Amino acid sequence: MKIKKLETFTKPYVSFLKTTLEDGSQGFGQMSTYHADITAQIFHKQVAPWVLDKSWEDFNDIENLVLEKEHKFPGSYLLRAIAGLDTSLWDLKGKLENKPITELIGGNIGSLKVYGSSMKRDISAMDEADRFKKLFQEKGINAFKFRIGAECGRGLDEWEGRTEDIVKTINKSLDSSVKKLVDANSCYSSSQAIEIGKLLEDNNVTHFEEPCPYWEPEQTKEVTDSLTIDVTGGEQDCDIRIWKDMVERKIVNIYQPDVMYLGGLTRTLQVAKIIEEGGYVCTPHAANLSLVTICTMHLLKAIPNAGPYLELSIEGEDYYPWQQDLFLDNPFKIENGCVTVTDKPGWGIDINPEWLNNSDYQVSDIN
Ligand SMILES: [Mg+2]
Repeated sequence: MKIKKLETFTKPYVSFLKTTLEDGSQGFGQMSTYHADITAQIFHKQVAPWVLDKSWEDFNDIENLVLEKEHKFPGSYLLRAIAGLDTSLWDLKGKLENKPITELIGGNIGSLKVYGSSMKRDISAMDEADRFKKLFQEKGINAFKFRIGAECGRGLDEWEGRTEDIVKTINKSLDSSVKKLVDANSCYSSSQAIEIGKLLEDNNVTHFEEPCPYWEPEQTKEVTDSLTIDVTGGEQDCDIRIWKDMVERKIVNIYQPDVMYLGGLTRTLQVAKIIEEGGYVCTPHAANLSLVTICTMHLLKAIPNAGPYLELSIEGEDYYPWQQDLFLDNPFKIENGCVTVTDKPGWGIDINPEWLNNSDYQVSDIN
């Protein structure tokens, strides 16, 4: 069965893709968020021409064909676009077989524990602690990640003293049963990160994400080898060669692939396998409430080396207005600190028709 039509529905932050086969079967996917308008252009120019009129069944083969044909363009944007194709093909397969995707890859539906993930650095220590306390009491979330240092901050803090303040305040404010995670987003040199790591150890933080510039793995490894807490990373990396290298050299303790940055579920399953064979846990990166988090839910319910929780952004309309109203109902509903993967086929979501109607439409098809 061949791919006949590829339609994109695009706004600046999000682009959905509808793939249609010769027999009219359809599936919906999404490209990676941010500059999605640029990604959609790349999709129609550098992905669609290679896959139209091709058999759809072997996702790995068809995606590799795109990467081979576009081998002068390795990197993020092409994979962000391929993520749209891949996630639409999985949705199609799920719908044809009437199964949720997690079952197609060996998993089971049901509940999944989350950690509440803050995206804010422009928030005071007390305000952040108050948000977490409220979510602990009202939604039962008992793990949270907050931000330290400045993003790619060359060693500087967001404002002077913020990191020490927030690490101590969160530890003092939250129930001792609550897991505490931090993300430095590539801020520190290794020596600085080791010093900050001691502060984290003293304040019951268990997860230190991206302490050093991610493109300097030797620095990160020094931190990993020096601290007792878990050092984590990998969200930016989308090249399978780099993944093999990172795991082989034991750069971090916990690995965090992003389904959308990697080019979809197919390649993420390959990376999860590399991580598993290295003997490590996989706690994927999923930093917004678009399809990336849905895909990660299905993945975590299936892989044997899944970390203990799903990253779930706690940001709402005030901070990420673009992620409002993408889906009908609420696929991210939290009960007792858990979200649920349902038995609905495919990704199990309905994209909001009104959102689609108000987006920029583009089509590539077989004439
Ligand atoms: Mg991160």
